[in-house]
Amino acid sequence: MTPIAHLINGERIATSGRTADVFNPSTGAVTGQVALADRATVQQAIDAAKAAFPAWRKTPPAKRAQVMFRFKQLLEQHEAEIARLISEEHGKTLEDAAGELKRGIENVEFACGAPQILKGEYSRNVGPDIDAWSDLQPVGVVAGITPFNFPAMVPLWMYPLAIVCGNCFILKPSERDPSSTLYIAELLHEAGLPKGVLSVVHGDKEAVDALIEAPEVKALSFVGSTPIAEYIYSEGTKRGKRVQALGGAKNHAVLMPDADLDNAVSALMGAAYGSCGERCMAISVAVCVGEQIADALVQKITPQIQALKIGAGTSCGLDMGPLVTRAAQERVTGYIDAGVEAGAELVVDGRGLQVAGHEQGYFVGGTLFDKVSPQMSIYTDEIFGPVLCIVRVDSLEQAMALINEHEYGNGTCIFTRDGEAARLFVDEIEVGMVGVNVPLPVPVSYHSFGGWKRSLFGDLHAYGPDGVRFYTRKKAVTQRWPARKSHEAAQFAFPSNG
Ligand code: NAD
Repeated sequence: MTPIAHLINGERIATSGRTADVFNPSTGAVTGQVALADRATVQQAIDAAKAAFPAWRKTPPAKRAQVMFRFKQLLEQHEAEIARLISEEHGKTLEDAAGELKRGIENVEFACGAPQILKGEYSRNVGPDIDAWSDLQPVGVVAGITPFNFPAMVPLWMYPLAIVCGNCFILKPSERDPSSTLYIAELLHEAGLPKGVLSVVHGDKEAVDALIEAPEVKALSFVGSTPIAEYIYSEGTKRGKRVQALGGAKNHAVLMPDADLDNAVSALMGAAYGSCGERCMAISVAVCVGEQIADALVQKITPQIQALKIGAGTSCGLDMGPLVTRAAQERVTGYIDAGVEAGAELVVDGRGLQVAGHEQGYFVGGTLFDKVSPQMSIYTDEIFGPVLCIVRVDSLEQAMALINEHEYGNGTCIFTRDGEAARLFVDEIEVGMVGVNVPLPVPVSYHSFGGWKRSLFGDLHAYGPDGVRFYTRKKAVTQRWPARKSHEAAQFAFPSNG
């Protein structure tokens, strides 16, 4: 089997070192091997980026944007192929894979506005014959490390914007599903990106450590689990780098007694079980305010969970595919065991699901726990699987206290018809992204994405306006062109307009 290669200087680079197996989660079969970069390979990508940077930073933003316009067209043209590659290695359904690509393309569209984004600020006559402006300059060579669960969208959160801002980018995608990411990076070269501006190095900790330690890499964007986010944030900032590290989540949906239950149930089905729960914005806890709404929710949602259409991700018309790896399947079933042992009421049990013709696939069915308490590991931990937990409380205040006390603060939402309750929730909840009757409040590309608490390490959120700030350095210029060539005496008092 030829290993899935790195992309350095616009060329596929095959190396003879370590590799990792890539699986089709629907069948359990090994479908490829991905090269794992050593330090020398990472250095090759860094050298290519360094060499490309001087010309790329001087390329007019409008010309950089033209590459992105062509890239967007190519992405749309190749949607079916990209969705198939995602689905084969990740396991998500084809429709879901196409959805993540579309959200990624939104970020390319935002990057197409580079000339507008990078205009900076200008003030004429801030003093006698003095003008001032602020310029947004690129940071230099920057790197991104991305998770398995969005192999197309999350890299697209990062490099289109970094690149139009004039940086050169090294991407280290997840080694579990690297093919779609590589294919998309090649499309950007087809769109006219100069060699060396974007490189893709596959790998694991060794490659990531090489990026963290390289003095030439000035900024690191990371998206993945919280322990690795903390590691990268602390190791990167220790070395004086800019770091933005997005971590894990445990997202709660609050159901108020006045919620439109039919719509809330539909929203919860998609948000809890879409992509097999492998989304950092997935809803994994439903907090019901009052026994009545909790009982009604269990009654309505149970048959819908039992009726989920589950099968090979690459088939059409399904609700859910398998989990990404055997280890993920075992972790999720382990949590279900722990929930039962801790005394939660298992209403729908997804363990032991067999999909005909795919007996070796990593399937777990939709699972529902009721009467979950905040001490249980199924409540405290990110399960990252198709498991929804119902917690019963007596008031909105109790629901909000529960959410505010949780260590994660990525996303949350409230289902209600009561504007006053919704307004209080939006104002006082300690979570970075909030939905009102919207279960997955992932911001559009011209806003920025980010959680609070242990869901994000760093000051700026990802993509959108915060992404521009992250990938640029501000330079403030004060310039004087005296109108008359008269001699001026030295001035020792601090200059002012006073
Ligand atoms: P992960 O942390 O295992 O891997 C993420 C990246 O880190 C991969 O590229 C991986 O190769 C690398 N990595 C793994 N171990 C490493 C180590 N010891 N040292 C250095 N690098 C290492 O995450 P995952 O399983 O791929 O993705 C799922 C996680 O990502 C979940 O926790 C999910 O919530 C989170 N996530 C968060 C967001 C967000 O925006 N907050 C978005 C998507 C996913």
